[in-house]
This record gives sequence, structure tokens and C-alpha cells, in this order.
Amino acid sequence: MLKIVKDTVSSLRAPSKEVELPLSQKDEDLLLQMWEHLKESQDPSFREKHPSLREGIGLAAPQVGVNKRLIVIHYPVDEEKKEYITYLLANPKIVSQSVKECYLEAGEGCLSVDKEHPGYAYRSYRIRVEAYDALKKENVLIKAMGFDAIALQHEIDHLSGILFYDRIDKKNPFYKKDGAIAL
Ligand SMILES: [Zn+2]
Repeated sequence: MLKIVKDTVSSLRAPSKEVELPLSQKDEDLLLQMWEHLKESQDPSFREKHPSLREGIGLAAPQVGVNKRLIVIHYPVDEEKKEYITYLLANPKIVSQSVKECYLEAGEGCLSVDKEHPGYAYRSYRIRVEAYDALKKENVLIKAMGFDAIALQHEIDHLSGILFYDRIDKKNPFYKKDGAIAL
């Protein structure tokens, strides 16, 4: 279980640096620890023993105090079959994005943000991300859409010090954009 940096800490707003490839043992270990943190956070019996632990599906290294371009995403797509979407990525970069947008109807959440920030954070519906995949141990081109694309954009934003509520219209947080897909 890692200590999470909250949005009251200035380092969370700082840009993160690219990591060198091949990945150092230290960077690979950090990705594995972040993955472990997410898995523990999704385990109800583990959470019961650690009441301060919040359930999460994604983490970026600056959220654990390391300003490097590393992100992890882990969430179930089919809990019965134990199928998960899992990304352990270094230097992820959005190389293309759709004009079509989407948003989470219930709003986004973030392990670094304790306060409520109601509203819609608009994101591209489809994106392509180039990255080094630390699980596959190769460079990959990820094609993501919908929830998957939102999760990737949320974590990649962290590498620029951007938080989800920066994307919510302050004056009209529930403004509905034409053509945007609600998820
Ligand atoms: Zn976040």
C-alpha cells in the first residue's frame, strides 16, 4: 500500500519527466507497486483492514510522489470471468484523438482528490496512445474508446499536473455538449 499525494501538494501540479528505456529496475518496481496498490484497493477484505485506503482503478507516478511519466490502470471488465483491463505504461503519449467526446455521467474520481467536484469532464471518445508496455515488455499502440479512453486520458493528464476538475466548466458544471456520449 502506497502513500497517495493529495491535490494540496504542489508536486502533483508539476510536469513529470520521461523515463529512460529500457526501463530501470527501480521504475519497473514502482509500476509493480502501483499495480499492487490498485489490486489491494479493489479487495474489500483488504480495505476493511485499511480503512484509509480508497478504491481506485488508475494511478500515475506523481500521485505516489514520483514525477516520472509512468501510469497504471487496472479494472475488471468481467468480474465473473476475472477479466481485467491492465496497463503498466512508461512514457504514454496520445498520438491521435477523436473530435467526438464523452464523459462520465456520475463524474470522475481521483485518489488524490478528497473534495467533491461535481460536473462533467469532457474527454475524447477514441484515442490512440503510444507507450512502452512494462507487462508486454515492448512498445505498443493502444486503441482505446469510451471508459478505457477516459481512464487513460485521466492518468496521462496527471503527468502534466492536470486534474479532472480542471476540465469541469466552473460556471456551468453540468453543461451538456452536443453530440458528446454519456457513459
Ligand atoms: Zn487521478
